Amino acid sequence: MSFLIEQRVAVVTGGSSGIGLETVRLLLAEGARVAFCGRNAERLEAARAALADEFPGAELLAMSCDVLDEASCAAFAAAVEERFGGADMLIANAGQGYVAHYDDTPKEAWLAEANLKLFGVINPLNAFRGQLAASEIGSLTCVNSLLALQPEPHMIATSAARAALLNLTHSLAHELVDEGIRVNSILLGMVESGQWRRRFEARDDKSLGWEQWIAGIAAKRGIPMKRLGRPEEPARALVFLASPLASFTTGAALDVSGGFNHHL
Ligand code: NDP
Repeated sequence: MSFLIEQRVAVVTGGSSGIGLETVRLLLAEGARVAFCGRNAERLEAARAALADEFPGAELLAMSCDVLDEASCAAFAAAVEERFGGADMLIANAGQGYVAHYDDTPKEAWLAEANLKLFGVINPLNAFRGQLAASEIGSLTCVNSLLALQPEPHMIATSAARAALLNLTHSLAHELVDEGIRVNSILLGMVESGQWRRRFEARDDKSLGWEQWIAGIAAKRGIPMKRLGRPEEPARALVFLASPLASFTTGAALDVSGGFNHHL
């Protein structure tokens, strides 16, 4: 069975790298029309060009948009409406984590994390809400982290903000049910992506290559599956929850962590 999204319109925030890029790729492979955004124009164009090569004839819109900027989100939604007539699925993926313990987390970082995790979803939702409500399969699917339920001391601000997002998505599922918009999220463990590449480039010990470095992290952190996730793995979970295959699921948070979850 396919995801039943052929010719449907999907919007992916943060689609120019990592998990978002793999999600765009899977949506295109499934025959959906896709709009995606990021802030950096060069990275966005590189992703668009690679996808256009890989999927000749694909209906693809890449647009620079900062999810923290309301006007930018409104312009993105207007462009999607004009190009595709509206969106059926919004996948709120854009973002990054903040690595610091309590004593090293300034007030600005607390505020920035709360802002990114909440308004990174709220702004795109407000911009696309009318389009999603007009679709008979409308859905909002958020990328969240296992930190929401399992805080880590070295990512204290991100953990707290992730918990707030989990709470928000649960409320939104109920708030938007009468508009026919399903709201779900995925709870990520550690997934190989741009973020981890950047941490790899900045590592102190340069004696290890990428594969060894990643394997070392998985072993040190005790991930039961003994590896980090690959971006295509959360992408599959996101597309499933966004698609009509999950038509009776709203308010769910799906674990994608290789067994790293310690809670019931
Ligand atoms: P990447 O850095 O590879 O990708 C992040 C994407 O988001 C890029 O396209 C980036 O483009 C975009 N982005 C970031 N901020 C904004 C913004 N304000 N507005 C628009 N686009 C933005 O990271 P991942 O694929 O790993 O991250 C995807 C999501 O998964 C993030 O929300 C991250 O926090 C979450 N996550 C990832 C984990 C992991 O282990 N990889 C673990 C837990 C959660 P640009 O910079 O050009 O804007």
